[in-house]
Amino acid sequence: GNEETRDFIRDMVQADLARGQVESLVTRFPPEPNGYLHLGHAKSICLNFGLATEYGGRCHLRFDDTNPVKEEQEYIDAIKRDVRWLGFDWGEHLYHASDYFQTLYDWAEHLIRAGLAYVDDTPPDEMRAMRGTLTEPGRASPDRDRSVETNLGLFRDMRAGKFPNGACVLRAKIDLASGNMNLRDPVLYRILHATHPRTGTEWCIYPTYDFAHGQSDALEHVTHSLCTLEFADHRPLYDWFLDHLPVPARPRQTEFARLNIGYTVLSKRHLTDLVRRGIVSGWDDPRMPTLAGLRRRGVPPEAIRDFVRRIGMSKANSVVDIAMLDHSIRDHLNRAAQRRMAVLRPLKLVIENFPEGHVEELEAVNHPGDPGAGTRTLRFRREVFVERDDFMENPSNKFFRLAVGREVRLRYAYLVTCREVIKDADGNVVELRCTYDPASRGGDAPDGRKVKATLHWVSARDALPAEVRLYSTLFNRPDPGAGGDLDADLNPASLEVLSGALVEPSLTEAAAGQAVQFERLGYFCADLASRPNSLVFNRTIELRDTWAK
Ligand code: ATP
Ligand code: MG
Ligand code: MG
Repeated sequence: GNEETRDFIRDMVQADLARGQVESLVTRFPPEPNGYLHLGHAKSICLNFGLATEYGGRCHLRFDDTNPVKEEQEYIDAIKRDVRWLGFDWGEHLYHASDYFQTLYDWAEHLIRAGLAYVDDTPPDEMRAMRGTLTEPGRASPDRDRSVETNLGLFRDMRAGKFPNGACVLRAKIDLASGNMNLRDPVLYRILHATHPRTGTEWCIYPTYDFAHGQSDALEHVTHSLCTLEFADHRPLYDWFLDHLPVPARPRQTEFARLNIGYTVLSKRHLTDLVRRGIVSGWDDPRMPTLAGLRRRGVPPEAIRDFVRRIGMSKANSVVDIAMLDHSIRDHLNRAAQRRMAVLRPLKLVIENFPEGHVEELEAVNHPGDPGAGTRTLRFRREVFVERDDFMENPSNKFFRLAVGREVRLRYAYLVTCREVIKDADGNVVELRCTYDPASRGGDAPDGRKVKATLHWVSARDALPAEVRLYSTLFNRPDPGAGGDLDADLNPASLEVLSGALVEPSLTEAAAGQAVQFERLGYFCADLASRPNSLVFNRTIELRDTWAK
């Protein structure tokens, strides 16, 4: 086991292994391929695959592909890609609930023969009404007492495609008065004339989640079936199937808290809706809480694993502060990302006493904490660009950067003093005229005088144009939708596109997804669509937490 991570699930697994309850740990991650994986799934992936690694067991990737109406090959491919990207590997253990369709069908007939399942023609609305409420028992359908022969015949007709969608279902015969609604004769099979990504049109009846899940676990000899709290009420049904079917193993279901994070939604239904309506550019829009979106935004998988480890496992649902995730991202990127210079909103600065045509080569450190990351050469010339925000025409008391008469340091280069401001016809500042101290190469004056600010810059002749996309949260309240209207909580400023940014030339080599720190600005990465002659960068995260403001 892992010393630093202890929680009720690890304690249980350890105890089960210690007393020989299970010989070797088998877990599974069972996504339904009806959307892309999000941070909530990451919690489940890290738990299931993490346990297998920690305790020398194995973890299966199993597609819970029992609803062909909503499932697609695109999602299957994306899920595999994203699990691997997060750092996990299922090896040979790739499974599909659809692998078990024949066995599940046979087991349904087994229940029918045992008098424990029946075909019910009651229309869906009526069936729902007849299930009763917590205070009122359910009412029996007239079909509940059909004979074994009748039920077998009808179920085979269902399978043979003799009925249209919704004409009837197969239900377990358990207890209509149960205090647990899941035991009030749950549906086991429904008719769906649809093409399945793997089994095509071989089947027109499909098992429900409840009838497929535990039995799939049993068929794969899963020892610990870990799921989220909302399935706690399904556990008696999970066990009921294991009690009444000739299963080869006896998995045990344990529930843990769902992950919820402030300012976002972790529900495939809502995320699908954002994609379909074009509110985001796709499942991998960098604002999405999907693994594909986070990857595109530049979030490293290590940061997600660290976040999941730090939030831990609990038995109570809660909302995790988004600052927790940000902390893990910054912590990792601070160590991993090389430093570069880029100017997002450029303002020209002309150094009047720097000779025209003259070039100086300066050495810049790639990572202050990692000498092994080496250095790179920057070219310095008479004309550079600085950040517009680093100049103030009428500086306040607390503003120590550029203003007329002020001396500042240009990083790695020289001390410069602003002498004059050039404006256009509308009065906008378009250029700063400065002088530099030729004795201050590297950024320090021989007389030891201090300046209060060090600014990033790019050389006008050498810098490359780039588009920079600044992202903030997709929603502007911590509990989106809580007011009843999710759309009303969308953050209209979640994406700001800066089309006139300038970056140092070495950034042409930045690979998509590879993080860099733009000094003083934040962590960025090249977008998937970035090309050497049309650079596009995504801001992964700002340098400091601005949530406290
Ligand atoms: P959604 O509500 O987003 O549709 P789901 O649970 O229906 O999610 P599945 O594809 O069935 O999606 O999920 C696969 C696994 O991931 C399940 O075991 C599920 O419990 C787990 N999971 C899904 N969402 C979360 C979450 N927010 N926190 C923790 N685990 C989650
Ligand atoms: Mg599910
Ligand atoms: Mg779902």
